[in-house]
Amino acid sequence: MLDVQDLSFSYGPRPVLRGVCLQAQPGELLFVLGANGAGKTTLFRCILGLLPGYGGQIRVDGQSIAGLSARVLAQKVAYIPQSHHPAFPYSVMDMVLMGTNHRLAPFASPGRAERQLAMEALETLGIADYASRSFQRLSGGEQQLVLIARALAQQARILLMDEPTSALDFGNQVRVLERAAALANQGYTILISCHNPQHAMLYAQRVVALHDGRIVADGPPADALDEGLMQRLYGVPA
Ligand code: ATP
Repeated sequence: MLDVQDLSFSYGPRPVLRGVCLQAQPGELLFVLGANGAGKTTLFRCILGLLPGYGGQIRVDGQSIAGLSARVLAQKVAYIPQSHHPAFPYSVMDMVLMGTNHRLAPFASPGRAERQLAMEALETLGIADYASRSFQRLSGGEQQLVLIARALAQQARILLMDEPTSALDFGNQVRVLERAAALANQGYTILISCHNPQHAMLYAQRVVALHDGRIVADGPPADALDEGLMQRLYGVPA
């Protein structure tokens, strides 16, 4: 279970997150909405332990992440970044294997068990045939699928997906969201940051909206996603 209490963070003088509280249970598919710059990625970075100067408390399975090593936290929380990636001169298999790094002793190479995990993750997303391709020669959408496979190979039970459908064609958007819903059904906790209220309406069990650094809505999509919220978040009606 993920439990965020009174989370505050600022990169400089202007606060980005102000007293954010949210909980997410195993099996929950939660969409985080908010305009550009609302703080969605910053929230995810705090949960990943990448911004240690935050105020408040973040607990995973009852333990404060402040006391966890990166290796232990990687077994609990995985991040799927937005699809603007620098060039990585690796094969798809190598990229997915990176998700298994926390299982290895320092400087050890992945073994058979890690390769199997990586292959299963690629198969789960229907992209096993990408394994030997060059990651940097894939399209943005194809790269996105590989990064989701990497998170699955990591075997963390909390997945933070940062705008996972933004670079995908319609078919792959549906595939990724269906996959996220299936993973939630298997007991994963999934947080998806998203700009598409229709996706939230169709797939979210719960919607959390960030505005001006605060949570301004938290509930089932049919209750939370009203015209007032759309106007407040995006300045336009739904
Ligand atoms: P988007 O939907 O556009 O991806 P977001 O909701 O994910 O936006 P964040 O990336 O969390 O928003 O950014 C929140 C605010 O923090 C923005 O005003 C952004 O300019 C600022 N910010 C983000 N990263 C940094 C940084 N490394 N240094 C300074 N300011 C930053």
